[in-house]
Amino acid sequence: MQKLGKNHGGYHGETIDIRAVLPDIKSAARLHGWTTELFYRTGDLDLFALHRPSLVTRHPSRIYLSTGIHGDEPAGPLAALKLIQENRWPANAEIYLVPCLNPDGFVLNTRGNADGIDLNRDYRHLESSEISAHVRWLERQSRFDLTLCLHEDWESHGFYVYELNPDGQAPLGENMVAAVARVCPIDLSPVIEGREANGGVIRPSLDSAVRPQWPEAFWLLQNKTRRSCTLEAPSDFPVSVRVDALVTAVNAAFAAWQR
Ligand SMILES: [Zn+2]
Repeated sequence: MQKLGKNHGGYHGETIDIRAVLPDIKSAARLHGWTTELFYRTGDLDLFALHRPSLVTRHPSRIYLSTGIHGDEPAGPLAALKLIQENRWPANAEIYLVPCLNPDGFVLNTRGNADGIDLNRDYRHLESSEISAHVRWLERQSRFDLTLCLHEDWESHGFYVYELNPDGQAPLGENMVAAVARVCPIDLSPVIEGREANGGVIRPSLDSAVRPQWPEAFWLLQNKTRRSCTLEAPSDFPVSVRVDALVTAVNAAFAAWQR
């Protein structure tokens, strides 16, 4: 599978109509018994969290997923829609899913929001309305056993994953990479985005206190979880391939985590 060669200096692939995708996500979620909680509105576009109750009532695990924080990464919201439609969730877990944190960015096809703020660097200083509202929502939630943030990288040669796992629980990254290798290439570079990588898995140092800007995964690790993975699909491949890569990785993470 060859790269499309479209992404010179940024993302130049397919775009989505977020005003059509968000209603599709809401109606698929309703069909499968999820509830919707609105936590912010920007113009006519909603930021909302979806909740799917566990099928077991005694001590269910809690899983959180988010995506759509970068408006030039359309595979994330489409993967959220596909995951809801396929409806293959761990039976013993409550699922929380925020399918689009940056709807204005999708309208503009920009990484940042309408003010040009990179929302995935805003979890320390909370300068944007979107992330301020998201953190207020997160603060009302109990802790999560597993958190997954779905992204794309326009520069990458293949799929890769960041894994934050400070307690040394059974790793998930290698399972995701092995599953996604059947869908699209893996980025096997020894250094990705300036960080040491091993077979498509990056385990960043936990230097969050000295990092001037925090991505969502750092806030989650500081406040709500001990296990956070950030999935990066390679956006110089067709969007359908990237959606498959993200969905495959999420399902592989669930399978490995349940073992
Ligand atoms: Zn991203």
